[in-house]
Amino acid sequence: VSRVAFAVHGGAGAMRQLRAAPDEEAALRRAIAACLDEGRAALAAGASALDVVERAVVRLEDDPLFNAGHGSALTIDGHVEMDATIVDGRGRATGAVACVSRLANPVAAARLVMQRTPHVLLVAEAAERFALAHGARAVDPASLVTEARRRELLRRREPGSGDAAGTVGAVARDRDGHLAAATSTGGLTGQLRGRVGDSAVVGAGTWADDATCAVSGTGHGEAFLRCALAHEVDACLRLRGMALGAACDAALARVAELGSSGGCIAVDREGTTALRFNSAGMLRGWIDEAGRARVAIYAGE
Ligand code: ASP
Repeated sequence: VSRVAFAVHGGAGAMRQLRAAPDEEAALRRAIAACLDEGRAALAAGASALDVVERAVVRLEDDPLFNAGHGSALTIDGHVEMDATIVDGRGRATGAVACVSRLANPVAAARLVMQRTPHVLLVAEAAERFALAHGARAVDPASLVTEARRRELLRRREPGSGDAAGTVGAVARDRDGHLAAATSTGGLTGQLRGRVGDSAVVGAGTWADDATCAVSGTGHGEAFLRCALAHEVDACLRLRGMALGAACDAALARVAELGSSGGCIAVDREGTTALRFNSAGMLRGWIDEAGRARVAIYAGE
């Protein structure tokens, strides 16, 4: 039987805040574990990698603890503007949306862009109108705003505060050997209106190609864009023959060269999984070699 693989992340960054809130940390770990259990069961039952990554990201978008969908980070003037991308390793079919506010699940809208248009990326009101016309779940933008994100924005307006944590992503290999990746985010706390990050740009925050690997990243989006982070992992495998973990490290080293940090999760065509970061931590989960669900945040876990 061909090896299935599945990994998810719940964002890099703001680990200092997390250490100060043990209850929240435990809740985040439980949410990731539940996501892994569901994905593992679906893959074992023969679900496609594409369906599994979309479902995992929808689930995390619906959870207000994560910076995606409900619970998204707020722009400088207190609005929600979300980005998401999904990539199918079969032929690198891709869909993405950017700067959307009225959709409960941006990743599902991204999939509609992939499957129902000849395009890759739709933005703002036009993306919302398109997705709603094709059955996407509508939401009042105000209902996506949580008290925790409001407080985070207020802290951000004071000097010395950090960026948002909690962006979400998933990568999978199904039993037919197909790969897929998806990423969804509310962006960075206090970002300007109209700012689009790596999570909406294929090759930066998300990548999948059955011939190489599937990647979902999290971190300072501007640096990920400037490094084409997810595509860099692919390039290290394809052109330099590197192993998956080393390829992720090499790609993240380029982000560090720009003075930024973050992490990524990846699976390759053999079903190897890598979860790497150069930030203080990255909330992450994966199915290990023995088929166990594993969840970690800090280095060395
Ligand atoms: N990469 C995301 C962005 O810049 C944020 C994150 O991963 O936390 O929009």
